[in-house]
Amino acid sequence: MLTTENGAATNPRVDVTTRPLPECNRRLVRPPQGKGRAFHRLRKAIHFGCFLIFLVLPLSNLMRFDIPRQRFYFFGYELWISEFAIIFFSLMFLMFVITAMAMFYGRVYCGYLCPQMIFSEASIAVESRIRRWVNKYVNWKAAQRNLLARALFYLILGIASVVLAFVFIAYFVEPRDLLHRLLSLDVRTAGGVAGAATTLLTLLDFLFLRQHFCTVVCPYGYLQGMLGDDETLIVHYRDENRECIECQKCVRVCHMGIDIRTSPYQIECIHCGECIDACVDILARLGKQGLIHYAWGERGELLADQGTAWYQHMGVRDSKRVVVLLLVLCYAGGLFAALSMRRAVLVEVLPMRATLYRQDAQGAVYNRFRLKVANRSHQQQIVVLTIEGLPETSFVSFENRVVIGGGQSLEREFEIAAPPSAALSPGVNHFQLVSRVGNERDSIPETFIMPFKDSR
Ligand code: SF4
Ligand code: SF4
Repeated sequence: MLTTENGAATNPRVDVTTRPLPECNRRLVRPPQGKGRAFHRLRKAIHFGCFLIFLVLPLSNLMRFDIPRQRFYFFGYELWISEFAIIFFSLMFLMFVITAMAMFYGRVYCGYLCPQMIFSEASIAVESRIRRWVNKYVNWKAAQRNLLARALFYLILGIASVVLAFVFIAYFVEPRDLLHRLLSLDVRTAGGVAGAATTLLTLLDFLFLRQHFCTVVCPYGYLQGMLGDDETLIVHYRDENRECIECQKCVRVCHMGIDIRTSPYQIECIHCGECIDACVDILARLGKQGLIHYAWGERGELLADQGTAWYQHMGVRDSKRVVVLLLVLCYAGGLFAALSMRRAVLVEVLPMRATLYRQDAQGAVYNRFRLKVANRSHQQQIVVLTIEGLPETSFVSFENRVVIGGGQSLEREFEIAAPPSAALSPGVNHFQLVSRVGNERDSIPETFIMPFKDSR
């Protein structure tokens, strides 16, 4: 991979300027607070919404993979591990949406939606606010104020790490169970150890790693570099008339410590748009337009341009994107169909062929079966079984009715008996076992073995 002078990875297709980079380029800096910054305010509103979603999804069972119970909760559906195909399909759909989003809109997921970025920026903002508050209201020596600010920051970050780790683990362990483990300071069970380890990692992450995580640990940034093309949304510096006043504000506000003027394809750039706001802000004072923009590729029009068709404005800019969009829609349709065709109660009947049949002294023939019922709903259900296509036969020591509680599964063995008078063929007789649950009816093809003529 090619790199810029400061070591940032670039796309070999572009290298728009050879301008030397400023000293502060590699530092992660805190953006100054400003008013009227459109993308900054948009990001903060989206960050807040994402934080609420992050909290609500596991705590309300909207999306959660309960490892101890082996259940996948997906927007009102409780999928059992035996329904792995649907679980896999759901996860693939989410992956596909994120991948398509990277192709259409570049790294907007990193800049606008990623929890790591949201909490990294939040920890920087909290640290800055505490420092300002202590400097304003505490009349101590500078070193003592500094110590107090750090202690307060560590305290708040410690509490926040416990909360965030709790919510994260709640995606995999039932929240009430997890709260019980937390309150009893459990570090013996797997859930307790996972909670303690996640808390520690969260604390260390937001103390030391922060946005470095994006370039050092996270593979998604590299993946997005491969998914983008000449029509993908990027943040691009365009200065044909040489209007840049070299104020460096776009560099100072950048959370990732890069200079967007060097290249629009630096691996660190998360397409957050903070540098766009900064340039607009500074050049507006001189009555000029900003020089940094969201643009559809290096040579494409700007996002703000009004002349394009609405679908192009939404990112559907070539046939490749039409195909990707259709695939996403097909996936969504397939997932919707699979979820709506899913039965709340799963009934399986398996013949037990260790012994083909049993015959009593009166000549009646018996075949043995195993019934498996899984109630994947939250309500009690009644399953009624009937025999169709096997005249004169009946269930033996089994009421054809099974009552099963919500979330329960059961197994039961039963026999079907054919009296000597039954008009069945020797050998294999095909019939249907019909299961009824409420208004749902299901036919299960089965076989009944009769003795062969010479053995009867
Ligand atoms: S260069 Fe601009 S868009 Fe890229 S990360 Fe820095 S501030 Fe955000
Ligand atoms: S903020 Fe705008 S004018 Fe200032 S250095 Fe960056 S691109 Fe140039």
